[in-house]
Amino acid sequence: MGRPVPTATHCPYCSFQCGIRVVAGNRPAVLTPWEDFPTNRGGLCGKGWRAAELLDHPERILVPLVRSHRDAPLRPTSWDDALDRIVVAVRRSQLRYGPDSVGCFGGGGLTNEKAYQLGKFARVALRSASIDYNGRFCMSSAAAAANKAFGIDRGMPFPVQDIAKADVIMLVGSNPAETMPPVMQWFDEGRAAGARHIVVDPRATPTALGSALHLQPVPGTDLALANGLLHLAVREGLVDEEYVATRTAGFEAVRRTVRAYWPDRVERITGVPTAAMREAVRLLGEASSAMVLTARGAEQHSNGTDTVLAFVNLALALGLPGRPHSGYATVTGQGNGQGGREHGQKADQLPGYRGLDDPAARAHVAAVWGVDPGELPGPGRSAYEMLDRLGVDVRVLLVMASNIAVSAPRSDHVGKRLGALDFLVVSDFFLSETAARADVVLPTAQWAEEDGTVTNFEGRVLRRRRALPPPDGVWTDLEILRALADRLGRGRYFADDPRTVFDELRRASAGGPADYAGITYERIDAEQGVFWPCPAEDHPGTPRLFTERFATPDGRARFHPVEHKEPREVPDHEFPYRLTTGRSLQHYQSGAQTRRVPALMAIEPDAYVELHPTVARRVGVSANELVRLRTRRGTAVFRARITENIRPDTVFVPFHWVGANALTNPELDPRSRMPEFKACAVSVSRID
Ligand code: SF4
Repeated sequence: MGRPVPTATHCPYCSFQCGIRVVAGNRPAVLTPWEDFPTNRGGLCGKGWRAAELLDHPERILVPLVRSHRDAPLRPTSWDDALDRIVVAVRRSQLRYGPDSVGCFGGGGLTNEKAYQLGKFARVALRSASIDYNGRFCMSSAAAAANKAFGIDRGMPFPVQDIAKADVIMLVGSNPAETMPPVMQWFDEGRAAGARHIVVDPRATPTALGSALHLQPVPGTDLALANGLLHLAVREGLVDEEYVATRTAGFEAVRRTVRAYWPDRVERITGVPTAAMREAVRLLGEASSAMVLTARGAEQHSNGTDTVLAFVNLALALGLPGRPHSGYATVTGQGNGQGGREHGQKADQLPGYRGLDDPAARAHVAAVWGVDPGELPGPGRSAYEMLDRLGVDVRVLLVMASNIAVSAPRSDHVGKRLGALDFLVVSDFFLSETAARADVVLPTAQWAEEDGTVTNFEGRVLRRRRALPPPDGVWTDLEILRALADRLGRGRYFADDPRTVFDELRRASAGGPADYAGITYERIDAEQGVFWPCPAEDHPGTPRLFTERFATPDGRARFHPVEHKEPREVPDHEFPYRLTTGRSLQHYQSGAQTRRVPALMAIEPDAYVELHPTVARRVGVSANELVRLRTRRGTAVFRARITENIRPDTVFVPFHWVGANALTNPELDPRSRMPEFKACAVSVSRID
């Protein structure tokens, strides 16, 4: 017997999708870095290093689970019994309440094939408009802004290697040193060569502490800061007038708007000193190459789309997008955060980033699917709006790759809505907090046990390759969807083989904004990923967008005048601090996976709150004591972590544990329908 051959694949967690190799001759599987993969070059973070530990985890679900009534415990059953129960519930609900009473909730971690198939399953097998996914909580404001400004939503319109070559980078609301550490090699390479990096964050994160300049605004005031920076750029003659005249439209309205954002006023709103703003804008405006990168800190607000647009305005005015080693980008979060938002699991979307309300798009996709365009439902409700109507309009819910009981805003309320459903189905590999409430739990394959593609934060389509089979009795999500479609009499429309599904996705996306028509599994293997758009097999793919034109009808990027507005909640007598949320180094998203990894839990075992020493003194707590946080939606208890790295008017909690989102505000951005996770009013009290 020779030594087992490692399978080259990708980490199951964040959107950097580090290349890894899995040796799976004997279980447990062993994971090693993929040294020559071009993005991470062998680098992995602690989460990635330990991803294989979950494949044989003792808590893994290996058989379908059902309960006979709401208060009964879950018990093992056969696949036939589990699937039959689901179909009975679907049929009963749709007969009584109509097709939209059965909903689907997907995830940004699903492969492209699964995200595509789930969208198709909702529209073709269920004929329901009720589908959305957790990416709505994560990327939708950046997506809405990019579509408005550039005519296309690819988070990063250039390869990650360009980061090392930019002379100046402004990172807004992004903390890659903790959320995707291997990407820091590109920032570090730039810094070693003399690049200056500016970080905008209310916390002095490890990323901020390593930067040349840290701007520490009050949460929820980033838009005012961006307008203030543009005001200064105009005043100091840093606007690239030729670029603005030849490559953009609409600047004059923005120039007028930012006149009102004079430095003293912006300092009063944001708390950022005028001198720091001047230094930042001079660094950006005088550099020969510069980038503006934004992430969740800018986006997760009730004005998230406008906030992103304000930074896009700044980048456009300085002439950055499309220039060498320059540009504007959003740093996507979830593993398939980019691909997962392109192929139809969004409430208003068809594959290829087409609009569900566009007759031509409906006709094209319906022809690929072999159905009548008139059969396709219209757009449905966004994620939180659908969750808020569970048990009312949506009576049966199928959840795939999402732990909404932890990750949705106002999670206590969402928990009650889940409890009001007639029937809840969850496919997962662990009994997550959401799965634990289900009527049927379907055990599903993990990342290393099935084939598929993901699209990383650069827009590079990658292959997740199967390194080992799933445990006996565990199915893939594609097999689950096919089996359900079969039982619903629509099985002829659904394949369960990833390659067949991907080939269909290619046809469905052809001609759309996210065009995968020319991408094949073989090309991905040969080229270490292919950048979309790639409309034909002889097309090279598109590593860099916007070098000649933007994806708007006239090829020009669009400015949009935007105004600062306060978050929906600001501190008052009863709730005197601002609460902001985010990620920690050791954990990922709702923690359903990383909270089951002993080595990660040994370092970061439970939920904590970061408090400035002045807040701790005022409240009377010492490090590691328990404190209660309370907002208008709920309360939760955290261990105090006292640090000077946070503003004294702000407290921070990571959202990987139950409790953080019991506090957060579901106020939605009017365009992206993204909730305001990043700013609400909170009180802090000591627990005696
Ligand atoms: Fe995985 Fe992201 Fe860590 Fe890379 S940076 S190992 S993709 S979690």
